[in-house]
Amino acid sequence: RAKAQLGDTICYYEPSMDENARARRKLANDLRQAIERDELTLLYQPQCFISDGRLSGYEALLRWRHPTSGTISPVEFIPIAEETGQILAIGEWVLREACREASNWPNSHRVAVNLSPIQLVQPELPALVTRILLETGLSPRRLELEITESAIITDKDRALHNLRQIKALGVAIAMDDFGTGYSSLDTLHSFPFDKIKIDKSFLLQSDQNEQARAIIRAVLALGQSLSIPVLAEGVETASHFDLLVNEGCQEAQGYYLGRPGEAPSVLVAHEPGSLKLAALRAANG
Ligand code: C2E
Ligand code: MG
Ligand code: MG
Ligand code: MG
Repeated sequence: RAKAQLGDTICYYEPSMDENARARRKLANDLRQAIERDELTLLYQPQCFISDGRLSGYEALLRWRHPTSGTISPVEFIPIAEETGQILAIGEWVLREACREASNWPNSHRVAVNLSPIQLVQPELPALVTRILLETGLSPRRLELEITESAIITDKDRALHNLRQIKALGVAIAMDDFGTGYSSLDTLHSFPFDKIKIDKSFLLQSDQNEQARAIIRAVLALGQSLSIPVLAEGVETASHFDLLVNEGCQEAQGYYLGRPGEAPSVLVAHEPGSLKLAALRAANG
């Protein structure tokens, strides 16, 4: 430590870096068999309209049930899958599984599927989406794709071309994690998004941080002037929900309204009689 304080350049061996690399290699290896071994599953998290508490749809969220390491979060394995290219097979599996499951739901709610930036710049993406919709019989109106802006940064022409073709099928396109990363007004201006999702970090800080509340207000104003509905992520408390009601946000998603769950139980929990949604409906008159 003394040396570091003197500003010496210390050449050190860091075993944890090695272990990290090894762990990533093992995950990448195991991931190769995850699809065949049926280890991937989708959870569904409800999204609702703030005006009346009605469900607007469900977001499909990927989980990996690893045989020895337990459930692994997409935050851990999606970046690895993106590095190795496995994201294409995984992304196709997710899209097919979400459409297949949604086509069997007893209600006709929408399913929102996250797309990796790598998927979004594949020339074959529009054909793949078309094929999966035909295969599963899901109406295009019931599918929404959530994208982040990094893909549009990577290859803007290809990304916008794909988005236009997919939107022409009747599929909705949402801009995810708005306000973080590379979000730019230029992207909003280049493509008619059907929804803007404000990143959860803003609502999660909103109780203590006036700046965060100001940004939420600004995004809502932007959505209003562009006529794009805004969904706020990360609604964890009644106070978060109240803020959205007061500021005129259109849709909400978060643990306060419902956690991601297995399709059958989540669907039953949010049927019209559900306590939480009924309470919200009542509270909003
Ligand atoms: P995302 O698309 O922004 O999804 C929202 C994340 O916020 C989910 O995390 C969800 O479980 C979490 N969340 C929902 N409500 C709350 C809340 O009230 N509080 C807090 N703190 N968190 C909440 P999850 O499931 O771990 O997914 C993380 C990210 O992984 C997603 O962020 C998305 O970028 C990515 N991801 C998930 N599934 C897929 C997939 O099928 N394909 C791709 N390419 N990415 C996926
Ligand atoms: Mg998302
Ligand atoms: Mg998000
Ligand atoms: Mg995200």
